Amino acid sequence: MTYSTHIEIDRSALIHNLEFIRSFIGPDVIFSSVVKGNAYGHGIENIVSIEQTAGVNHFSVFNAQEALRVKNISKKGTTILVMGMLTDDQLAWAIESNIQFFVFNTSRLQKAHDLGVKMKKKVRVHLEIETGMNRTGFSPKQINEAIDFITNSRSLIFQGLCTHFAGAESISNYYRVEKQKKTYWKMMKQLKDTSKDPELFHVACSAAALRYPGTLLDLVRIGILQYGFFPSKEVQIDYMSRNKVHTSPLKRIVSWKSTVMNIKSVKRGEFVGYGTSYFANEDMRIAIIPVGYSHGFSRSLSNQGRVIINGEFAPVVGMVNMNMISVDVTNIDVVNEGDEVVLIGKQGEREITVDSFSEYTNQVNYELLTRLSVDIPRLIVN
Ligand SMILES: *Cc1c(COP(=O)(O)O)cnc(C)c1O
Repeated sequence: MTYSTHIEIDRSALIHNLEFIRSFIGPDVIFSSVVKGNAYGHGIENIVSIEQTAGVNHFSVFNAQEALRVKNISKKGTTILVMGMLTDDQLAWAIESNIQFFVFNTSRLQKAHDLGVKMKKKVRVHLEIETGMNRTGFSPKQINEAIDFITNSRSLIFQGLCTHFAGAESISNYYRVEKQKKTYWKMMKQLKDTSKDPELFHVACSAAALRYPGTLLDLVRIGILQYGFFPSKEVQIDYMSRNKVHTSPLKRIVSWKSTVMNIKSVKRGEFVGYGTSYFANEDMRIAIIPVGYSHGFSRSLSNQGRVIINGEFAPVVGMVNMNMISVDVTNIDVVNEGDEVVLIGKQGEREITVDSFSEYTNQVNYELLTRLSVDIPRLIVN
């Protein structure tokens, strides 16, 4: 069966990005592939299966459902780390399944201990320390108590000490990030001095790994970079100027395609689509594409976005509907029903990048990618 719209995942581009990441983190740092948000829209199963063939065996997710999806398709010996939410039932399941998780408050720590004892299981926990993001994490004072609690626990193992930076992708947060580093490094030193250190110290996301040397530590939690995007334009410019390269070392792995569903002539003086948001000043030809906001093509792209058909850009005219958009093809010589339409990616000489969406909407690439509907089939290519 063919699809009215589908997403292509470029295996060789992903492998290329993994090699780039390995080249700057070095051989000894553990690479944890962050696949939360359906692997940033790429599909957890696709990303995990490709990466496992490339030797990746550590994955970080947000919740239990995502952890289960990784577990279902990953090889034995793969580490799965839940960085976010677990309900009490899920906590028991995670422990039973040897899934590791962040602990950021005393109630979860106590529950993990109790469950571990009851189930006669060792529980590898990553204590999250609050360093200034003010989202989750033990305060430096609480964390000492938490570490003592682990030391005295029969079930808990102090697997990691972690924190997350509050915006390492922007220099405007420099002072705040440096302050976070200070707090974390102080705790790290104290633990080393008292021989209470965990198996792993880890703090870096993509932006920190690139911009704050010294944050690589034992493990990095990398999401956006592996999918072929810098966390922000600023990080990209900084990276490229420091390394004197003129093209991005990363490759986009996602393409989004559809086909022309219908073609229509519209007379000058008519409106196109719902309401009166687009008025035809000239006789025009429009193509209808079976993609809308339900697929993740934001409504704010009404009269703003564009697609590529037969190697030419075709601008969106009128409102983005739930399942359809209209695009202006008046100036494209030949357009037929069934022609390929590119929403993200390349066709002929033209390309629509994920970054370009942020020029029409206030969506950053993280948001655009994760909003690509899970209903759109993902096909692995290359
Ligand atoms: C999402 C996330 C990451 C990865 O961030 P990227 O910017 O995509 O590299 C790392 N750590 C935590 C705690 C996260 O939530």
